[in-house]
Amino acid sequence: MTGAELKALGQRKTSACNCSLKICDGWESVSDERWPAYQLKLEGTLRTPLPEGQMDLSFEEYHPQGTRYDSANAPIAPPYFPYNRCDVYACSNCRCAVLKYTEYGGYYVDHRVRRVAPDLVIDN
Ligand SMILES: [Zn+2]
Repeated sequence: MTGAELKALGQRKTSACNCSLKICDGWESVSDERWPAYQLKLEGTLRTPLPEGQMDLSFEEYHPQGTRYDSANAPIAPPYFPYNRCDVYACSNCRCAVLKYTEYGGYYVDHRVRRVAPDLVIDN
C-alpha cells in the first residue's frame, strides 16, 4: 500500500463506534485482549520487500519537525520506522483505519497500534 492509498483510507468518513482504537493517536501498546479482531479487517501492508543484500528493515525515523516516535503529531512516513513494518487495518463498523506492528523483545512481543490521521501521512 502506498502513502497515497493510506491517506485515502484514513480520509474515509467514519461513523460512531465503540472500538477501542480511536484513542491511539501516538503509538500505543495494545494487548491481544484489547485488539478487537472480530471487527478489524486487514486492508493491506506498508511492508516492502528488502533490497538485495540488506538483512533488516531500516530503523531510521522521520521527524523533520522535531517530533518523537510516540508523538501524536509525528508524521506517518511509510518508508521509515516503524511504518515500514506495519500492516493496515480498518474497523468494519466505523471504518477508522489503524496501523499495527509488533515489537519483539527478549521475553515478550508487544503489539503497537496507531490511528491513521490522514493529515499526517507523507504520501510520496
Ligand atoms: Zn470502530
